[in-house]
Amino acid sequence: MLSDIEIAQQAKLRPIVDVASQIGLSEDDLELYGKYKAKVNLAVWDRIKDRPNGRLIYVTAITPTLAGEGKTTTAVGITQALGRLDKKVALCLREPSLGPVFGIKGGATGGGYSQVLPMEDINLHFTGDIYAVGAAHNLLAAMIDNHIVKGNELNIDPTRVVWKRVMDINDRQLRSIVTGLGGKANGIPRESGFDITAASEIMAILCLALDMEDLKRRLGDMLVAYTYDGRPVYARDLKAVGAMAILLKDAIKPNIVQTLEGQPAFIHGGPFANIAHGNNSIMATRMALKLADYVVTEGGFAADLGAEKFFDIVYRTAHIRPDVVVLVATIRALKFHGGLPLSALNEEDLAALERGLANLDQHIDNLKNIFGLPVVVALNRFPADTAAEIQLLKEHCARIGVKMAVSEVVTRGGEGGIELAEALLEAMQQENNFRPLYDLETSIEEKIEAIACRVYRADGVVYSKEAKRAIDTLKQLGYGNLPVCIAKTQMSFSDDPSLKGAPRGWKLNVREVKVSAGAGFIVVLTGSMMTMPGLPKNPAAENMDIKPDGTIVGLF
Ligand code: ADP
Ligand code: MG
Repeated sequence: MLSDIEIAQQAKLRPIVDVASQIGLSEDDLELYGKYKAKVNLAVWDRIKDRPNGRLIYVTAITPTLAGEGKTTTAVGITQALGRLDKKVALCLREPSLGPVFGIKGGATGGGYSQVLPMEDINLHFTGDIYAVGAAHNLLAAMIDNHIVKGNELNIDPTRVVWKRVMDINDRQLRSIVTGLGGKANGIPRESGFDITAASEIMAILCLALDMEDLKRRLGDMLVAYTYDGRPVYARDLKAVGAMAILLKDAIKPNIVQTLEGQPAFIHGGPFANIAHGNNSIMATRMALKLADYVVTEGGFAADLGAEKFFDIVYRTAHIRPDVVVLVATIRALKFHGGLPLSALNEEDLAALERGLANLDQHIDNLKNIFGLPVVVALNRFPADTAAEIQLLKEHCARIGVKMAVSEVVTRGGEGGIELAEALLEAMQQENNFRPLYDLETSIEEKIEAIACRVYRADGVVYSKEAKRAIDTLKQLGYGNLPVCIAKTQMSFSDDPSLKGAPRGWKLNVREVKVSAGAGFIVVLTGSMMTMPGLPKNPAAENMDIKPDGTIVGLF
């Protein structure tokens, strides 16, 4: 089989104007970025906002191996399959961050015959949204330090500036730094650091805002520092809101591209799901729901992260609930949870597979019984999967009463997703008792404990001294009723990436708690979770190149 990028490069793209017209968008509704990419004008919303919503298919996964189990690929494949079934369908995804593209993942636009195009552009600079977020974020950072140097009217304590800088590259060297060195003319020295842009509160805001006014209100509400006497300082106090909003004037508009088989795909916003809320923009999803009868969207990482955050954070802002959840599983990952090392995942091992089902079962139980949603398991088929292994999974799902479909969208495109798409259309008819996990009125600790004990199945939560103190402060500042966004490893239900399967007898370690007051959630950092990832020993970047004619190789 050809590589992902070879398949993408052989595809014949349709003009984006034609693709967008399938869901009733005219050329006047679009701002073209060349022939195959466009932004959708927000004015479209006024025309469509009173229409009924289409049905929402939410794609999530079991706890992954390092590579990802194929959520994006499956989401694209379902979209293509629904297209083949003559449904009016649109896809909504996040924008890939350069961090993982050059680190481990090599790209995040699907795989094989289920991809979004043009994949090189989407994986690299695309329409510049991520840079715009970075620019807005760093402008505010510069204005804060400048304010301190130029008289510090707001009485900001330089040791309590909580607004760091960001960029969209994995660079552990910049996690913790000292800025302002070089004497009086060069600023006031203070400790700071860089986060990845996908972890910026502005990225979360871009994805949660409903329109420009809401975006500006949220930008103003961002808590950036404390004064010497402990009072909070907001972005609005620095008069930074208008300028940041100007920088985001285009980033706020959803991007539209196409799948390999020509269905429209909105790709907009890119917060990570471990250190942020992990779902594409509400503006894109709610627009897609008015324009198409079926919308497929993906949440980041496993169902304990991106999906939980969709249900408890996105839902409360957008009032969009899924009609059905797709839980992507692979035989490989299940065997990994059953204790096999990564190097042995290509060998048949029914006993390991059987043991690994505990991970699948806990995700299914959460989605069905805690969140009340219809679930379909999608087995994303890999070449090494054996008939006996697939049969074992099938029988297990039948025994626990969950529909399962084998997905072959990587090798066969939309055709390989028909069985899954039909299972989804049927499951959508089931009773939907969706409810978020917790009430906002419960305390911050109760909300953290609800997620830790009911979704992750911890025995309890252990707070650091700093975390306890921070929670008290946030309550006093009036943030007690916000939802919580837990930053946790994606490699385990627990906060320890080495614990596979469905770990029991452990406690969640809360290291740090802070507020993203503009985004509207409390960030809870657990374990050794970082907000600036590092590169692996052999970054994907090492295998990339561009030829004299402009052909890119090594993105995958
Ligand atoms: P996720 O969205 O869950 O992180 P992706 O869909 O991005 O996962 O897939 C991760 C990687 O695995 C991609 O490089 C993709 O091409 C590859 N992949 C996914 N499914 C398959 C499959 N069935 N066979 C081979 N490779 C696959
Ligand atoms: Mg993905």
